[in-house]
Amino acid sequence: MQSLTTRSKVASNKKMTFVEKLYLPAILGGMRITLNHFFKKKVTISYPEQTRPMAPVYRGQHVLKRDENGAERCTACGLCAVACPAEAITMTAAERKPGEEALYREEKYASVYEINMLRCIFCGLCEEACPKEAIFLTDRIIDSGYLRKSFIFGKDILVDPLDKPIDVSVRETKETREFKTHPEFAHNKLNTKSLK
Ligand code: SF4
Ligand code: SF4
Repeated sequence: MQSLTTRSKVASNKKMTFVEKLYLPAILGGMRITLNHFFKKKVTISYPEQTRPMAPVYRGQHVLKRDENGAERCTACGLCAVACPAEAITMTAAERKPGEEALYREEKYASVYEINMLRCIFCGLCEEACPKEAIFLTDRIIDSGYLRKSFIFGKDILVDPLDKPIDVSVRETKETREFKTHPEFAHNKLNTKSLK
């Protein structure tokens, strides 16, 4: 019967020669391969001291963005959680109270927002589903850890730091920028009104 692959080898009962019994040629052959690799360029790097160049649209740790006035953009609509194929996102919605306009952009916000990073497959669908341009994936690599619970990222980790906002401009399309600034769009009017 004809073989399906070319990988099969015919087993042989041929007796080993004297030189083969010394194993020297095989040892020297192995050493030659080791020496060859010794002088080749290393394929490994000393992470985290060294990092490899990454694509600008690399999908790493998420950020929940604030608007230009520092208010959280997320309105707890849940669309990111619905879009997530790994069911990694959970949230609790709350109603904004009078006086909290500077904290939350819209009348509803996420009092709890969690992403289970052990489930996340970094597909970016949450980013695509968000109608408020609130969630983005960034080029930040998630640190390793020993405890599973340390990979449940809450708002303390996810929300954009006020003093050092994460730049996601490279991920924003022209349409996204227009969405955030067009004076005729209702969500931009709401923002201006709420801050008066
Ligand atoms: S990147 Fe994909 S898997 Fe991860 S939270 Fe977003 S939608 Fe879910
Ligand atoms: S991140 Fe976006 S899609 Fe997810 S709940 Fe907030 S506003 Fe909705």
